[in-house]
Amino acid sequence: MLHFVTAVTLALQTSVADSSPFRALPLPAANRVRSASGAPGPDYWQQRADYVIRATLDTAGSVIRGTQRIHYANHSPDTLAFVWVQIEQNIFAQNSITYTLNQPPLHFAGGAVFDFTGKGFIGGITIERFATAGKELRRTAYGTMMRVELSRLLPPRGVIDFDVAWHFPVPPYGGGRMGRIGARLYEIGQWYPRLVVYDDVHGWNPLPYIGAGEFYLEYGDFDVSLTLPAGFVVAATGTVANPLVVWGPTARARLARARRSAERVQIITKAEAEANTGKRVPGTKTWRFTARNVRDFAWAASPDFRWDASSWSGILIQTFYRPGATPWEEANKMAWFTIKHFSETWGTYPWPHATTVEGLVEGMEYPMLTFVPSIEKREDQFWVLTHEFGHEWFPMLVGSDERRYPWMDEGFNTFIDYGSAEGYFRGTAYGDTVRRELLGAYRVSAVPGNEQPLIDRPVEQRDLAWAAYQKPALMLTILRDAVLGQEPFERALREYVRRWKFKHPQPADFFRTIENVSGKELDWFWREWVYTTARLDQAVDSVTQAGDTALVYLSNRAQMVLPVTLELRYADGTTETRRFPIEMWNLGSKFTARVGTAKPVAGVVVDPKEIYPDIDRANNQWGK
Ligand SMILES: [Zn+2]
Repeated sequence: MLHFVTAVTLALQTSVADSSPFRALPLPAANRVRSASGAPGPDYWQQRADYVIRATLDTAGSVIRGTQRIHYANHSPDTLAFVWVQIEQNIFAQNSITYTLNQPPLHFAGGAVFDFTGKGFIGGITIERFATAGKELRRTAYGTMMRVELSRLLPPRGVIDFDVAWHFPVPPYGGGRMGRIGARLYEIGQWYPRLVVYDDVHGWNPLPYIGAGEFYLEYGDFDVSLTLPAGFVVAATGTVANPLVVWGPTARARLARARRSAERVQIITKAEAEANTGKRVPGTKTWRFTARNVRDFAWAASPDFRWDASSWSGILIQTFYRPGATPWEEANKMAWFTIKHFSETWGTYPWPHATTVEGLVEGMEYPMLTFVPSIEKREDQFWVLTHEFGHEWFPMLVGSDERRYPWMDEGFNTFIDYGSAEGYFRGTAYGDTVRRELLGAYRVSAVPGNEQPLIDRPVEQRDLAWAAYQKPALMLTILRDAVLGQEPFERALREYVRRWKFKHPQPADFFRTIENVSGKELDWFWREWVYTTARLDQAVDSVTQAGDTALVYLSNRAQMVLPVTLELRYADGTTETRRFPIEMWNLGSKFTARVGTAKPVAGVVVDPKEIYPDIDRANNQWGK
């Protein structure tokens, strides 16, 4: 009783909110689906959608018509009365959110432009049929999302087949993610009705496709038949299932050679591509592709392609490009290096080929297939190639929710891209300094009052390049170099990939995995970098020395906490580096570093290698 009274009295007198930077981050409670360790729990489930698609490209009107069967398996514990379906071509319909708001493209520091519209093209998808067991289902389209009422409830462990027929006109410019050049090159994505993800966190996830905010998709198998004019060559997600029909004996022999070659083999040479361009081949040809365990399917087709191929560790690496795209002679080597580097560093590439197509799309990723433009500067060409292939790890392999959390997709990918660029250009000025760009971007974009936390949704980000790409890459670089160390960091990120491949992680699953595997409590770090725009200002206030001990008075003057690296310069000209772990700030924003040394200290520098985005470097030095 006495104890109780004392506690109440104390609480009344000294009520203090917990403002410690180390207070717990309020994450969703762990459960049997998502465990406290960050791994999928014993009851983890996700839905499955398998697709059989037959589509025809009519080049005269640039219209694609398709029929498809979707086999949908309900692995959830819930009974479903309706399903949500994505019909993204409706972003180009007159009444779409994107067109109604008529917003200009997003412009970013550095010149990047994100135009998510069709640049005036009016299109949209027509759903001719959506049926099950021969019965049309009632459906309502809401822009890029469609709700379909089931004629019978779908119970847990139930399966249902949907028969769908549709057509849409191909936009010349498809929001930067698809499109065509006349009737000579088609790069096709967001083209068939896809099931919306139903998960344990939000149930259905029918967030509209507005432009910013990419895709969140179920895994499944695909069997896709594409009928095109006979002169077209097709590259797609999936393996060609009818090679004797679609490839001639020369192409097949060269491909067989490419499967044993680390160097590019030319499957269609420049001269052959140029000869093909002048030819008119009558009739049509049907290409059949099969793909296992992918979350999407895309394809590209042209009668003009050059085609190079090589292989690494049984993975066929292919580059398709127009004869005019000269820098693309090296693209196959860049792609080969990229697939090898990411496989060895973060987890093996799991599919039979990795293919990229040069064309009008500024850079876009699909399973096994990327769209990349031809870029004059070699370093920039490598960057976009390696970036789009980096997406095969995030989000193709680790299937996160891009519509909500682009930093887990673009951001993690941008981080690994720096490692790839450093590897490919090792020993050059570019390779040795490219990661410094991130601190430059910090100075330009992390402006107080403008900067938004990266947890904000992508459609609300005014500087998507910073919040979705560069800041999370800087975050992971600092986590690796200053907080965890390279080996523990890489082990933890690899484990995240291993745990969540072909699955749907949430932010908390990532945070918990990194903390559990590295052994470090990091709530403070995630709060600073993900949930706030905290800034860093580490300072050395003064230095005193008595006997064989120097006292370095340090202070943390802004909201962000990070470990401190000190460089001590002695009177005899020698230097020494001391590192202080994050626990130095446990008792507040002042810390006295005791350095045992008999030598007189002449100067001190905080963060001597300048790896931090410290907002005031003038107070990082003390010197006599
Ligand atoms: Zn990207």
